Amino acid sequence: MIIGIDLGTTNSLVSYFSENGPVIIPNRLGENLTPSIVSIDEDEQIYVGQVAKERKILYPDFTAEVFKRSMGTQKKYKLGKKEFLAEELSSFVIRSLKEEAEEFLGQSITEAVISVPAYFNDSQRKATVRAGKLAGLKVERMINEPTAAAIAYGLHNKKSNTKFLVFDLGGGTFDISVLEVYKNIMEVRAVAGDNFLGGEDFTDILFNMFLKEKELDENSLDRKTLAHVRKQAELCKLGFSNGKVSLMKCKINDELIEYEVALEDYEKSCQLLLSKIRKPIERALGDAAIKVKEIEEIILVGGATKLPIVRNFVGKLFGMLPNTHINPDEAVALGASTQGAMKERNETIREIVLTDVCPYTLGTNVSVQRQGNYYESGHFFPIIERNTVIPVSRTERLYTVYDNQSEIRIEVLQGESRLAKNNLYLGEIVVPVQRKKAGEEAIDVTYTYDINSILEVEVTVVSTKLKKRIIIQQDGTNMTEEEIEERLAELKELKILPRDREENKLLLSRGERLYEESFGEIRQEIDVCMRKFEDILDKQDKIQIEEAAGELKAFFDEIESIDLLW
Ligand code: ADP
Ligand code: MG
Repeated sequence: MIIGIDLGTTNSLVSYFSENGPVIIPNRLGENLTPSIVSIDEDEQIYVGQVAKERKILYPDFTAEVFKRSMGTQKKYKLGKKEFLAEELSSFVIRSLKEEAEEFLGQSITEAVISVPAYFNDSQRKATVRAGKLAGLKVERMINEPTAAAIAYGLHNKKSNTKFLVFDLGGGTFDISVLEVYKNIMEVRAVAGDNFLGGEDFTDILFNMFLKEKELDENSLDRKTLAHVRKQAELCKLGFSNGKVSLMKCKINDELIEYEVALEDYEKSCQLLLSKIRKPIERALGDAAIKVKEIEEIILVGGATKLPIVRNFVGKLFGMLPNTHINPDEAVALGASTQGAMKERNETIREIVLTDVCPYTLGTNVSVQRQGNYYESGHFFPIIERNTVIPVSRTERLYTVYDNQSEIRIEVLQGESRLAKNNLYLGEIVVPVQRKKAGEEAIDVTYTYDINSILEVEVTVVSTKLKKRIIIQQDGTNMTEEEIEERLAELKELKILPRDREENKLLLSRGERLYEESFGEIRQEIDVCMRKFEDILDKQDKIQIEEAAGELKAFFDEIESIDLLW
């Protein structure tokens, strides 16, 4: 049995191919979606999914998320005292999903098809294979996410040549792919997107609408209150799936604040976001030289396409109703396990892929002028933007910022963060300049990225014509097979929370958070209930534990439904 894994930026899923077609395997908590979040505690116990998401609020320094963005890079995520690469964090997610599948299917699983974004380049794909390997799975085949979604819709069986569009709006990424299928070939004709646009931005809009409406200043609220407001905004957003109004309820400084949002107002506030969706679509169609009217089908993928606002927008844009009869959260995972089944039957769909793009933004560190006429350093300045087709060469001119500045330092950085320190440092060049007034000396910085993923950075001082150059070779990890084996053994030492303890751990983490969020009598009551529950856990009597867990959950639900308390 080859399972299919959708290793998402926000959520991951696992699926298998049953007699009746592909099926999603629910996780131990009964949910199809497992948040792609990893957390660790002092005892080096690893948590994946919902428990890690709960822990994120209280232990942000021990928790990592959205690491898929750095797949294939050397970026180290610090969780407590430990450091992990994105592929290692991903391996914990995969390990957890693998266990779910083994438990569900009652057999051990050794192989998986993992889906990756169509724009993933070779090193990102290799890192994904390694993540699978670190989780104890063989990954002989990967599938592009849009292709997987298309397969879930059965588009690979089309007899005639068909062009279609896969619209994937996830938690924090927007990917648009133009596909063409003909004679068993699925061709990704073009990809475009926005790595910083997704469902979370639609939550932010509600968050900001709430603060504005209630005249609250974000800076005057503490981190936990902000996390609470954001969570309520998320719930309010989901509420729009059922109607034209949605209610947002927040508890701020001991006061319950309610905000009824009309879909119409929400839609108005989302206009700017929606307009951002348009450009990549135009770019992808342009790149593929395909006209809107040639598109036969539109497939919606990603949780955020459940938003009625997004659906309507897409419908209007194309003048046709998008395909949604397969749950947009699940289409990719279903396609991945279908691909797994095809591999087992030796059926093939040939995939032609576009991977010749620069996967990350490459730039440098600059100082920017702030109000009050001072310069603030540490800002990221993009030179080659992510997803640019390679080979590419770009030049930017930079100036001195201080009087009598004697040298300029160019740090070569890779990443998407606005802050230079959050991006990956690849190297640097320092060039001397003539001491003059600020802004009178300049350098030309040229970044050239070739098809072998080799980056050349050249700096020329405009006044003196002095040139300096460095070459940065990025071939993913330079680990040898032995080193991988060694790391494999190390990671194996780290235990993921056993399945049967997950539900209880989730209750305890949730209780910890609720304790911090509340006050007075409720707080005391939480404390009492938690201690009681911990005592019962110690006794290890299964029936008693289940009963107590049910009661504690009901109590927490009551607290969280705030209404009852006011
Ligand atoms: P990814 O592919 O990045 O892992 P998903 O496809 O799981 O992400 O999408 C997650 C996003 O979908 C989140 O921002 C979540 O709020 C949003 N989402 C999920 N369900 C709904 C819904 N019913 N209405 C609106 N947004 C939703
Ligand atoms: Mg996805």
